[in-house]
Amino acid sequence: MSVKIIAKDCTGCGICLEKCPFDAIEIVDNIAQLKDNCTGCGACARACPSKAIEVTRKAKKPTIKLEDYKGVWVFIEQHQGKIHSVALELLSEGRKLADALQVELAGVLLGDGVEHLAKDCFAYGAEKVYLIDGPVFKHYRTDSYTNAIVEVINKYKPEILLFGATNNGRDFASRIAVRINTGLTADCTELSIDPETKLLQQTRPAFGGNVMATILCPKHRPQMATVRPRVMKLCEPDYSRTGEIIRINSSVKEEDIAAKILEIVESSSKTVNLEDAEIIVSGGRGIGGPQHYHLIMELAEALGGVAGASRAAVDAGWVPQYRQVGQTGKTVAPKLYIACGISGAIQHLAGMQTSEMIVAINTDPEAPIFKVANYGIVGDLHKIVPLLTAKIKELKKSQKADKTAASV
Ligand SMILES: Cc1cc2nc3c(=O)[nH]c(=O)nc-3n(C[C@H](O)[C@H](O)[C@H](O)COP(=O)(O)OP(=O)(O)OC[C@H]3O[C@@H](n4cnc5c(N)ncnc54)[C@H](O)[C@@H]3O)c2cc1C
Repeated sequence: MSVKIIAKDCTGCGICLEKCPFDAIEIVDNIAQLKDNCTGCGACARACPSKAIEVTRKAKKPTIKLEDYKGVWVFIEQHQGKIHSVALELLSEGRKLADALQVELAGVLLGDGVEHLAKDCFAYGAEKVYLIDGPVFKHYRTDSYTNAIVEVINKYKPEILLFGATNNGRDFASRIAVRINTGLTADCTELSIDPETKLLQQTRPAFGGNVMATILCPKHRPQMATVRPRVMKLCEPDYSRTGEIIRINSSVKEEDIAAKILEIVESSSKTVNLEDAEIIVSGGRGIGGPQHYHLIMELAEALGGVAGASRAAVDAGWVPQYRQVGQTGKTVAPKLYIACGISGAIQHLAGMQTSEMIVAINTDPEAPIFKVANYGIVGDLHKIVPLLTAKIKELKKSQKADKTAASV
């Protein structure tokens, strides 16, 4: 943005001085003058009663040739030599995008001694793996990973780049986007290619989940998106597939990285793995207080599952945040999801509606959760949940007894 004072219209009233948040205007000879620290924010122009300040918005012309950018890339997040499931989900989805564009699908793999993971990338659809391997990449650090990936993007120019919306993915995808002057759509729930323009259509919930927005990045490359774990479906891997490994000689050096990792302390929340759980029992505001959450935990335990919660239960301080399911919590897709005392707000559904089977327990027969539930129980969870837990325990006990009898 550029700001210009129209001297003939300026009355020297000084209102712009008061409104400028950067103290970047002075009055000289009864006329406003811009100082060097003007940021072009335009606050002065909006305040000027004489319309004596003009703001011109100059669109920054991209300095890149869009046609130079080809191929779909997926960042292959790995921890201690094990690929994060979201990377495989993104390869599965990336394969469809690459096929629609008739281009290659590649994985970008960083780590120390991680070449053996390339075979998994090929099995899930990649034709190429860009391998950045060395001790400096042993653990994720924002600077080393950002610098290395920016280098390969500038050299090989992908048109689409996908990241898992994990802590690491969220941390450095945004930095990469700023460095290479492109856009980033976070937390996409759907990706597709526009058949006419060949642009990536990045769909995500907006305005508190009340509308679905489809976002395009027509003038910059790569088109970048993050997707949460469990949103995209995994394809069947084919381990007979092979591909090409491109070894990158990165210029990133340990001495250039400010952050040093002294010790890694595993978080206790890791023991609650909602995202990979096959059975989840979640409690909402309907549980009535933290003293009743044990009902949810006991049913989850009896079923061999994990206990989750709605945001209302988390916000009330009844349940820790790492158990939250939904738009601002975990996205889950278990075989069985039991929602107890949860109304079924759109933001909760966003995190669990792809579950294979949904059972809802709620006193209100009109609760929206019943619209997505396969089975609904209208009633008080404080009575129903303990009955279910007792019945499941009884069934398990009798199954165990039958097995013992059969083996004698
Ligand atoms: C930007 C944004 C992000 C959000 N992200 C999330 C998110 O990630 N996850 C999430 O869950 N929410 C999220 N929310 C909040 C969401 O809108 C709802 O407020 C929240 O899901 C409501 O939680 P709830 O269903 O437990 O509570 P309520 O809506 O209050 O529902 C409680 C339900 O319990 C039932 N009930 C009461 N007593 C009993 C009983 N004894 N037995 C059985 N049923 C009973 C009631 O009939 C009612 O249906 C978000 C909101 C916003 C604006």
